[in-house]
Amino acid sequence: MRGSGGDIEGQEMGMLFVLTLEGNIYSCKHCKTHLALSDDIISMSFHCRHGKAYLFDKVVNVTVGKKEERMMMTGMHTVVDIFCVGCGSIVGWKYEAAQEKQQKYKEGKFILERFKVLGPDGSMYVHGPEVQAGGSDAEDA
Ligand SMILES: [Zn+2]
Repeated sequence: MRGSGGDIEGQEMGMLFVLTLEGNIYSCKHCKTHLALSDDIISMSFHCRHGKAYLFDKVVNVTVGKKEERMMMTGMHTVVDIFCVGCGSIVGWKYEAAQEKQQKYKEGKFILERFKVLGPDGSMYVHGPEVQAGGSDAEDA
């Protein structure tokens, strides 16, 4: 069977390599770029300033920002922000280093902020009354 219809995602070859994941996928809520699999979730009990966040063993299709020291509830960490390669929006951060021994398991792991990503069933996490001013590109009735 060839030519199965459906959604064709424009992937600009030569500019970016966008990996396609299979399974229960978390994807960028803006451009639907695949970011991570639910199989790779280490913990769902993280929090960030916007609400829930998940810790992932690996995340794809992101670029990293510059390292910074960040004080968190669990101590000082060296982190880099991570950005979706599809649209450049920030989706979370990566732990480069943790100072506390008990936090070392997070090194090299990724946080995706739940409200920045779509869940495996396409669900969007809504946190608080975030009103968008003049959203002229909204097509939902
Ligand atoms: Zn994106």
